Amino acid sequence: MPNKLQQILSHLPSVNALLSCDTGRELIDRYGRLKVKEAIKNTLSEARQKATKDQIEDTPAILARIKQFLKAEDGFSLRRLINATGTVLHTNLGRAPLSPLLKGQFLNIAFSYSNLEYNIAAGKRGSRYEHITGLLKELTGAKDALVVNNNAAAVMLTLTALCQNQQVLISRGELVEIGGNFRIPDVICSSGGQLCEVGTTNKTHIEDYARAIGETTGAILKVHTSNFRLIGFSSTPKIEELAALAHAHDLPLIYDLGSGLFIDLERFGLPHEVSIKKALESGCDIVTFSGDKLLGGPQAGIIAGKKEYIEKMRQNQLLRALRVDKLTFAALEATLSLYRDESDALNNIPILKMLSLSQEHCEKKAKILFSNLQNHDFPLKCELVASQNSVGGGAYPEHLLPGYALALSSPTLSAERLEERLRALPIPVIARIKNDRVHLEMRTIAEEEMGELLNLLLLLKTD
Ligand SMILES: *Cc1c(COP(=O)(O)O)cnc(C)c1O
Repeated sequence: MPNKLQQILSHLPSVNALLSCDTGRELIDRYGRLKVKEAIKNTLSEARQKATKDQIEDTPAILARIKQFLKAEDGFSLRRLINATGTVLHTNLGRAPLSPLLKGQFLNIAFSYSNLEYNIAAGKRGSRYEHITGLLKELTGAKDALVVNNNAAAVMLTLTALCQNQQVLISRGELVEIGGNFRIPDVICSSGGQLCEVGTTNKTHIEDYARAIGETTGAILKVHTSNFRLIGFSSTPKIEELAALAHAHDLPLIYDLGSGLFIDLERFGLPHEVSIKKALESGCDIVTFSGDKLLGGPQAGIIAGKKEYIEKMRQNQLLRALRVDKLTFAALEATLSLYRDESDALNNIPILKMLSLSQEHCEKKAKILFSNLQNHDFPLKCELVASQNSVGGGAYPEHLLPGYALALSSPTLSAERLEERLRALPIPVIARIKNDRVHLEMRTIAEEEMGELLNLLLLLKTD
């Protein structure tokens, strides 16, 4: 080691010196000795690194960085943020925000004991699943239902319980990857089933399924292709045809619907999609779907359908590994109960409200924000622009919703730097860059967040 460096390093304060100085003692009072010591060690090792590059820090600078380190650690890692991307079901941003109407029930269940697995009337052990089976039966027409961790888990449990060592028939056009390594062929195999591909990529006929059925066939599986579409010369049999074929051979027809559609969204100009109820009415024996996609509830996987099949899943030990906690049940039951009255659901489930917003409504929101910013001498250039938003969560991939954005730009900052500064605000604002401008999409910013967003934008530093 060169002498000079050795000298610098020997001048760095010791851990003990930093712990026992005035600032050190203040920090210990606030954060506890253990955390402060950790922060000191971290900061000193950084200071040594810097010293080797001839960047020398004195004790006050080191103390300032220790403070900064502790302050950053003070906050939670999981934080709320403002979604200005315009994508309603954004998996990276937590998918569906829950209805504010759930708050009361959430607090009740989270901070007290509850009858999660207790039958109050009988004074005995009960089942956690009973809290939602009634509602799910009522809303979907299914004879029975179960809830697991997410839809991926729902598909795994269904195949594990119903198709062990048996063939699972699936159209070649439905062998998709949903994302996050959820690939249907691999899921079938890892659930203990044998993949039996039917038809071709673009066309699969009912006769293709019929020919493939044999002694070892366990089920016919249909999978919603989610964020992928086949267009042009393509077709698959109707659910009714598949159901008739499956039932003639005593096989279950399983449909992974992905997004759980409970109400008709054609009213918002979205294309037709099969609802859960319709899929079951058309003859599916088991349907699976997510709780936090179009349903607008918490992360969960819902399995609904025939009693005999659901019963087999109930008996499978995998269910225990996939089970969800009381907070999920609280949020799911309260979300589902809103669907008892369609207008309750439409008025109170945030993602349904966002999907229903017209372009005019988004424009109005953008204009209000625009004029509020002008009134405060906002230093950035603001432009109102018509835009297009997507539903997200794998739903309606080819359909864009006409929206409206406030496009920000600066003569001194690049769009990339500006986008970065929006993320660094006390409540991060997540926005997208388009044509060298940062777009704040109005669709996904809740009415209640607009005032907050204004205040946040006024904190932006533009130098
Ligand atoms: C989204 C989706 C899944 C995965 O659901 P998660 O709830 O994210 O686990 C599985 N299948 C389809 C068709 C989907 O769209």
